[in-house]
Amino acid sequence: MKKKLVYLLSAITLSSVSLPAFSADAPIRWKLAETWPKGLPIYSEGTHEFAERVKELSDGRLIITIDSANKHKAPLGIFDFVKSGQYEMGHSASYYWKGKDVNTLFFTTMPFGMITAERFAWYYYGGGAELAQKVYGQYGITQYPGGNGGNQMGGWFKKEINSLEDIKSLKMRIPGFAGEVMAKVGATVVNIPPGELYTALERNTIDSLEWVEPAMDLRMGFHKIAPYYYTSWHEPGSGLQYMVNDKAFNELPKDLQSILKTAMKESAFEISTRMTHEHSENWEKIKQEYPNIEIKTFPPEVMDALKAANQELIADLEAQGGLTAEIIQSQREYLRKVRNWTSISDKAYLNN
Ligand code: CA
Repeated sequence: MKKKLVYLLSAITLSSVSLPAFSADAPIRWKLAETWPKGLPIYSEGTHEFAERVKELSDGRLIITIDSANKHKAPLGIFDFVKSGQYEMGHSASYYWKGKDVNTLFFTTMPFGMITAERFAWYYYGGGAELAQKVYGQYGITQYPGGNGGNQMGGWFKKEINSLEDIKSLKMRIPGFAGEVMAKVGATVVNIPPGELYTALERNTIDSLEWVEPAMDLRMGFHKIAPYYYTSWHEPGSGLQYMVNDKAFNELPKDLQSILKTAMKESAFEISTRMTHEHSENWEKIKQEYPNIEIKTFPPEVMDALKAANQELIADLEAQGGLTAEIIQSQREYLRKVRNWTSISDKAYLNN
């Protein structure tokens, strides 16, 4: 009898205490799958900071757990995970889904395309977000910018490239659309898993490769065996992405939707900024350790051939019409306009 009274009293006490309406609810728990291995600097660290930020901003009402590639075993399965709802969110790069839908290609980077600032401007103000919605909406996914790695280096080469003939005898690891461009000008293009790249380069299975930029390149060690570091043409501003399952998002209270979007935008800024920082730090280290590394740019005849091959491949895609042509035309027109500005501002300044 006494025990029963205690229960009754505690129930009364609890119900009479004034607490915010949500505190009685259990937190909403989401899972995010990322392409990256656990602990990958900047990218994986960035997604973990994002999850912490969502927890903090939502006062613990939305908890996001992150599964890295080591856990889910499918680094290139993120699109399907988010589409099916197995994971509410993902962090990856849009061009990995080209084989599923060619229109996803354009939301990471394109050879001779926009640099980072230009791409962000196109996405937020130049129609990019609306076009991404048309592409990803078909799959019940919304994608948001998830950081940008900046202007990627053209790669590490064991031999100097002095002519188009040199490209024709080149065996290079360069994936994606840029690989198609390189193949069109005569290079032998191969794809090799990241873990085997160093050995392949060391044993001359390949004589060049592109990876990222110093922030990611330093730990790969390519500079120890390939002395020529070429400047970019193929990934002038590689954007990462957050993907969110639409059904899960629509079930969130409005304020949590807003918190999620804000935290993704903040994360994109954090990752982009940290990439710039780490590129400069790591390039300093590479130069100190290996002062004989030479920075090279392809000679004009090679650049011209790459530009022509790129234009032909883009024209083939544009000929497909529909949404593909719409995205290509949007990017082309935006680049024309924004580059006019970049040329008389940053480019002119840097040429001083
Ligand atoms: Ca790359």
